[in-house]
Amino acid sequence: MDSSDSITIVRDRISTLLRQESATPAPRDVVVLAVDGLSYAFAADCWTGAAQISRLRSVFPTTSSAGWLSSLTGLDVARHLVPGVVFSDPEGSDELINVFDYRGRDLTPARETVFTDARRLGYRPSAVLGDMETYGGSWRDALLRDAEPVLGHRFYTQDEGTYRERDPRLLVDLVRDALGRTLAAPGEGPRLVWCYIELDRHIHHFGYDRHAARFLAGVEELAQELADAGTVVLAHADHGLTPTRRDPDLTELIETLARRNGFRMGGAGRTRWLYPEPGTADGVAVELRAKLPESVRVARSEELFPEGVRRRIGELVLIAEGDAFLVDHGYRYEHGSLTDAELDTPYAAWGI
Ligand SMILES: [Zn+2]
Repeated sequence: MDSSDSITIVRDRISTLLRQESATPAPRDVVVLAVDGLSYAFAADCWTGAAQISRLRSVFPTTSSAGWLSSLTGLDVARHLVPGVVFSDPEGSDELINVFDYRGRDLTPARETVFTDARRLGYRPSAVLGDMETYGGSWRDALLRDAEPVLGHRFYTQDEGTYRERDPRLLVDLVRDALGRTLAAPGEGPRLVWCYIELDRHIHHFGYDRHAARFLAGVEELAQELADAGTVVLAHADHGLTPTRRDPDLTELIETLARRNGFRMGGAGRTRWLYPEPGTADGVAVELRAKLPESVRVARSEELFPEGVRRRIGELVLIAEGDAFLVDHGYRYEHGSLTDAELDTPYAAWGI
């Protein structure tokens, strides 16, 4: 049995801390490091000096768009209605949207974030967009609502296109510079500074390796420096990643079935959904179960999602349960499904 709290508790944990601080004569600044793609097990190995580190359970599907929105709004997927990356147009057209490009109304009913809470408590909330500068649209607007955006600090997304590994110490220095400048910007009152770091880009290609360990060690040194100077530092993540290799036969089989049966595919990573033509889902499911390897679970969407979410995803869902699935070229680690490596994420604190 797993008794971990969901990542939806992050908003409340941060707001509770801000409330406690705001009741003191000199509320401290609070920095929140948002590290995309960080698993609990790896964080616990690297952050041995944290005053607290606990395990939180991510949401399903274990994607960035669903995870970050769950943490910062406190709503689960059934309530914020963003199930992943590619899904039906919220405005009702026949198109599928990509959530990171989508600009439109009705993406999510979420209207408040941890930054809304911070303002109410007398804090000045800023969001260092960091590697989120590459994503625009309504999703980011909903996620960062009520935060002052801070631009000009990218870490893992400095190169367009192919990912290139950089010296982890230089990356930590970039984070230090971004936080230092944001904390030192003129203005009255205590600050909440949230900073997005897309470590996920590295993990997709190389996994939890020496680079990642050195980067996290440097992040902990930085957190300790800030804590020593009187700032509270928190860190959280959206999901971890699990080893995944591309299965070329599976890729070809799904393409062939999609062509023959005329279905489209949405989702991302290790969980995809199919939009069969009306009345054909049962037949497509039978064919998929007969032809796909046992390591791919074929489910009906009603087994997995409540009605509001089902309107956005297809009738059939494919979930990777083994290490072979559909994977982008060059990727060795993926997320989106239900392994512990993907679901378990850290919540850590320094200077608390
Ligand atoms: Zn992510």
